Amino acid sequence: MDMFFIEFRDPLFSIIIFFTIIFIITFFSYWWGRYRRTQDSKHLDRFLRQFKALPSKDELQVLISSGELSEKSWLLLANSYYKNGDYEKSIEIYNEILNVGSSANAKETMFLLGKTYFKAGFLERSKQIFLEILKSSPRTPQALHYLLLVYEYMRDYKSALEVLEPLDELDEDIALERAYLQVLEILSSAQRSEEQKVADLLEIYQENHQLSYTIFEYIFRIDAKKAWENLDISKSELLAEVLWSCDVKKLNLDIISKNAFLRELYSARGNLKLAKGSSVFELDILIKLNGKANATLSFEYICSNCKSVFPFAFSRCSACHAIDTAMVEWNVSKDYSKDFGEENNSFQ
Ligand SMILES: [Zn+2]
Repeated sequence: MDMFFIEFRDPLFSIIIFFTIIFIITFFSYWWGRYRRTQDSKHLDRFLRQFKALPSKDELQVLISSGELSEKSWLLLANSYYKNGDYEKSIEIYNEILNVGSSANAKETMFLLGKTYFKAGFLERSKQIFLEILKSSPRTPQALHYLLLVYEYMRDYKSALEVLEPLDELDEDIALERAYLQVLEILSSAQRSEEQKVADLLEIYQENHQLSYTIFEYIFRIDAKKAWENLDISKSELLAEVLWSCDVKKLNLDIISKNAFLRELYSARGNLKLAKGSSVFELDILIKLNGKANATLSFEYICSNCKSVFPFAFSRCSACHAIDTAMVEWNVSKDYSKDFGEENNSFQ
């Protein structure tokens, strides 16, 4: 039996103890290393996660009131949220800055809040903010301009026109804004007949020769004969989309035959054969194709003020709010509305 037991004085016993200790130390050291790695990774994940999720409203309240960051830093942060389209977070920051009460730039912060409400589509709240600013500082043209925009977007053109009075007193140029709001008011009027609207729009157009697209797009739809009679030929390129979609029966051949651009435009559409080519590349291609391909013109509009591009015509740029700054660009594209075998509408 004694052969199964090792005496503790036996050198073999010491060797076994020695290796056991080495094994325990190695195992513990391996486990500790693994544990630290997992903890470090979890800590880094936790740290990075806080940048992925936006701070909650309560967290913002605590952060802003603690004063750890300056007001300017918060305004910069709100502005970057605004630029990224996260208006809700931007609004929360502005509101918290105003709630703290010690804001050195309360009026400016309120203006930024009103602007963000406007951009986010909260028109009623935006209106209240600008009215509050104007109550204490009535001579603030920026707030007046935004209040006018809010009324315009709310389709309250009467109130928008009233805002022009204080702007006029501040020597702001309001002629175009006035004409534009009058045009919108006429177009949305339920009391005026279509004939009356055409007459009123022409009266405005004859005063300033601006807003051609908005005015003539409507008149061409209602009374093409009157539209041709009053059309300013120098604006025919800007009105290319309206003229391009004008019904063949409503064309005024006398006017078209006297103007090179109109001759080329309708020759390109295939209704007339008054031009053999054009200096405008797209029109030239369509004239040369002579209806043999299923092609048409497509239009897009660029704001000359901010260079934003829109797939539709506009009177007021929705990006920079400038009026009558649209420039038309045309491209040759596939005509989805026309069947390839469809008969060509031609006078000849
Ligand atoms: Zn613009």
